[in-house]
Amino acid sequence: MFDCGEGTQRQMALARLSPAKKMKIFISHMHGDHVLGLPGLIQSMALLGRQNSLEIYGPRGVERFVELVNETVQFNVTFPIHIHEAKPGKINDEERYEVHAVWADHVIPCLAYSFVEKPKPGRFHVQVAKRLGVPEGPLWKMLQMGKAVRVKGKRIDPRLVVGASRPGVKIVYATDTRPNRRIVSLASKADVLIHDGTFDGSLEEKAGPDGHSTAAQAAMVAKAAKVRKLVLTHISARYRDPSILLKEAKKAFRNTLVAQDLMTIEF
Ligand SMILES: [Zn+2]
Ligand SMILES: [Zn+2]
Repeated sequence: MFDCGEGTQRQMALARLSPAKKMKIFISHMHGDHVLGLPGLIQSMALLGRQNSLEIYGPRGVERFVELVNETVQFNVTFPIHIHEAKPGKINDEERYEVHAVWADHVIPCLAYSFVEKPKPGRFHVQVAKRLGVPEGPLWKMLQMGKAVRVKGKRIDPRLVVGASRPGVKIVYATDTRPNRRIVSLASKADVLIHDGTFDGSLEEKAGPDGHSTAAQAAMVAKAAKVRKLVLTHISARYRDPSILLKEAKKAFRNTLVAQDLMTIEF
């Protein structure tokens, strides 16, 4: 999960995501709209008797924040909470994905994150394996791992049975921020760039001092990074209809969407 605003629990319920689920939380910065959902979420996890540890990554301050709430509210947590002070670079390396961070450019320290899925193994062709006489079980597993096996003295190359590995997805989350070069390189060739697009062009003078981007600036970042899709987020509440933002962004980068609650994107 990237950031945890006030509405997070409600949205999780609507998306049917259980708070007991395995989860890591990456906080961009310590402004309320990005962290105030954490206390409630941790409380719900405790009430559900969560056992899995919870990993939270974020800039300085996040640890103190959670500790202070824990001290004063007494969540009675049933699970370990590990809080990591995140710095630019690779901050997480899991079996299936990595998370990297760079400094964004906001009014307080703020991190932008990339979620990079590792290449997925190719498809396993069951019919071919059967035709070649490979019995189901450990030999299939070895082939899936790219290792040759022997069946009745005959060597079977994994490439006969397993397709080419498929690239994983790369998603970059960059808000709150002014447009900047570190994000361009973090987002290089990403499948999706979710970027601050708080204002329209008439408010560019305000965007800079506030530490935000206009939709057109987000589009320039997307273009420079050669991403496949841009999703504008952190839209100012003044836009009941965000179509002006979409129009301005599309001038520089056509494949743009405005984020909506519970939006899903297919690959
Ligand atoms: Zn902020
Ligand atoms: Zn914000």
